[in-house]
Order: sequence, then structure tokens, then C-alpha cells
Amino acid sequence: MNYRHRVNGAVLDLPVGKAVCVGRNYAAHAKELNNPIPTEPVLFIKPNTALVALGEQLSIPTQLGECHIETEICILIGDKITRGCDEAQAEAAIGGVGVALDLTLRGLQQQLKDKSLPWEKAKAFDGACPISEFVSLDKVADLQQLGIQLRHNSHMQQNGNSADMLTPVVPLLLYISQFFTLIPGDVVLTGTPAGVGPLAVGDQLEISLVDHVYCQTQVCAAG
Ligand code: ZN
Repeated sequence: MNYRHRVNGAVLDLPVGKAVCVGRNYAAHAKELNNPIPTEPVLFIKPNTALVALGEQLSIPTQLGECHIETEICILIGDKITRGCDEAQAEAAIGGVGVALDLTLRGLQQQLKDKSLPWEKAKAFDGACPISEFVSLDKVADLQQLGIQLRHNSHMQQNGNSADMLTPVVPLLLYISQFFTLIPGDVVLTGTPAGVGPLAVGDQLEISLVDHVYCQTQVCAAG
């Protein structure tokens, strides 16, 4: 694996772990896919083979139906968060904040949902979780006042703010840790705001954690 976590411009000596993701953490996104607003976070996992750097080229599968982009605030875990941790411990365990893409083979996901099967093939494939560089928490004034944006061929497609999360970041980390211990090098994808949609080879994307992280990338076909 070539991917390494980077914080404030430096490569970290951390393993690359799992990505724990939350579905439907913004009410407007649940609505756009005709899903009910959940009463508890919906969790799923991408293995570390899904993690790649969000760089100049974004590789997507082209033989498996539509690949949708979901732009999400991503939390890097710097210290262990396990059952029994409190909010202060969970916040202190955050190693950085960045952006990740939850790439989703939407047609395949719908087929799997229709058969009540797990979503892994649609969301956890190789390269399904491109991740930006992170900034450390001391550079972020308020975790729940963070803007996240996707410009797709210069058109503003996603423009969200962590203020609109149904479950805010720290309670989400505590909820996750009831089921999955978070260890240094894991990441948490905190859900997508509204505006998800398909990607096509050649598309130009600009992705930002407003005032903190900015990435430009071009969509290409996975080899
Ligand atoms: Zn997502």
C-alpha cells in the first residue's frame, strides 16, 4: 500500500487502519436518496485496502455501473477510543481533520439493498476511500462549524457544514466505539451532505474543507 496519513504537511509514522463510515448523517442527504432519517447512526466499514491519497488523479471503476461521489469530513484517530471513553477522551484522541470521498457504486448498492445484502462490494472496493491531508485539531476553531465543498466541473455540487450533522463528531466517535474500537491510524468518515451524484472520466473536481484543506483532482479510469 502506498497511502500514508499526512498531518500539517508531514507524513505520520502511523499504520493505515480501517475506515468507519456513517450513512445518513445529514437529513437533506437521507431525503435525496429517499431514505428515512435514522434514529441511530448507520455504520459500515471500508478496509485499509480502500484507502488511497486524494491526489491529482482520482481512479474510479468504469465497468460496474455509476460511481457516485460523496464528500465527507474525515477524522484521523491518533489515540485509542474504546468503550468507556468519555467525550473529553474521544476529542483528545482526534489526530487530525480532513476530507475523504466515500466512492459508491450506486446501482450495485441498490441491488444489494434490494436483496437485503451487505453493501461492501459497492462501497469498500480497492480505492473506494480517497483521503486528503489532515490538519491538526488545534487549527480548527469549532469541529461543528466546518464547511465542506465539492465543485464538479466548476459547478458547486455539495456545500455542507458540520453544524447540520444529525450526530456530531465526538458523540459519533463514542457511538462507534461501542461496537468497534478505534485505534491510531483508523479514520472516521462522518457522512455526506446533500448533492451526491455520478462521476465520469475526465471530470474536474475541487474538494475542500473550507479554510483548511483544498484538493484538485481529475477523474480517470482505474487500470
Ligand atoms: Zn457516505
